[in-house]
Amino acid sequence: MKVFKFGGASVKDANAVRNVARILSLFPEDRILVVVSAMGKTTNALEKLTEAFFGKWEKKGEMLKEIRDFHFSIARDLFGGEETLFFTELHNTFAELEWEIEGEPEHSFDQVYDQIVSFGEVISTRIVHAYLRQQFKDAMWWDVRDWIRTDETWREGKVDWELTAERISSGLSGTGRITVTQGFLGSTAENFTTTLGREGSDYTAAILAWCMDAESVTIWKDVPGVLNADPKWFDHTVLIDRLTYQDAIELSYYGATVIHPKTLKPLQNKGIPLYVRSFMDPSQPGTAISAEPAPLPIPCFIFKVNQVLISISPKDFSFIVEENLRDIFDLFSRMGVHINTMQNSAISFSVCIQADARKLPDLIQALHRKYRVLYNENVELVTIRYYNQETIDRVTVGKQILLEVKSRYTVQMVMK
Ligand code: ASP
Ligand code: MG
Repeated sequence: MKVFKFGGASVKDANAVRNVARILSLFPEDRILVVVSAMGKTTNALEKLTEAFFGKWEKKGEMLKEIRDFHFSIARDLFGGEETLFFTELHNTFAELEWEIEGEPEHSFDQVYDQIVSFGEVISTRIVHAYLRQQFKDAMWWDVRDWIRTDETWREGKVDWELTAERISSGLSGTGRITVTQGFLGSTAENFTTTLGREGSDYTAAILAWCMDAESVTIWKDVPGVLNADPKWFDHTVLIDRLTYQDAIELSYYGATVIHPKTLKPLQNKGIPLYVRSFMDPSQPGTAISAEPAPLPIPCFIFKVNQVLISISPKDFSFIVEENLRDIFDLFSRMGVHINTMQNSAISFSVCIQADARKLPDLIQALHRKYRVLYNENVELVTIRYYNQETIDRVTVGKQILLEVKSRYTVQMVMK
């Protein structure tokens, strides 16, 4: 079994959905599990809808209508309005979504978020499946929530690997040559939907591949493969054709957005290769990630903008010791603030985090109780894997370096 993952951009309109079928037709001999994300920017729209529901915004209905129109127009383009049974199903699914946002919220924001936002994947797989069924008679649809069991960590469900593997091995015989299922979703023991964290569909592909001992995973993207830098920030980027799991893990950990960071570990654990390929040019091989040694041919750059550098020192002029670090980490963990890089010195501890208008004031206030806190907003974090002086000079020209963390292969710099 091969696992293919198609993200939001690869199903953003009717032609994109046709292209998915075209790619699948290049693999007539394979059994393929197709993991699909919500179409285009639907997840963002559903996030907003959840806020509208909680905030009792008047335009809630208008927002839902936009989401519905977007999907119906793709469906009409694909089916010309003839597949009547399918359109009835689609209406029903939207009616269910409408119920979700009726009345008053009955659970926490995060729990309700998962129940609403998950419709993006349910609807997209319904449409993609209906189209694939026309092209490949035996294409099936599967509700991934029958397979992936998580705990009740809403918006970041933790996977119960054993139970999930068990359910998949008993469910697999019921799948077809081509089976379409949702990325990003799981469900709890009480049958509530959970989501696995934004951009989590790559991770879903890895979970399913691990559980069914898949032959490989392919992520079909709008880039030719893994590049040494994000073309958004760099004019000249180079495609890397082979990567080790280790390098790929490091790159995604530091923030290369091409692969979701949680994806690689399960694949590495079972030696399942991961291919990153272009859905616009499926004749190209893209990037292959495996255990095979593959020295990285060039330095890789990862940029994160909109960062905040916080420096924390005890109010009583004492040193930063284990006890302080424990308190500080505990606070960050409780507030769900992820540290992108950090450095310790005798009297202060510095961390770099993503700017978050909601969390930052609370975090600073909480730190203020015991510490003197200085912070610098609007800074950038650049990470270079396999750096040398020339590459450092290249990215720091004209910038002031506020913090530098170096290890043998990786350098991280916070700059202004
Ligand atoms: N649709 C979800 C998101 O946009 C999951 C994904 O795309 O991987 O976060
Ligand atoms: Mg997406």
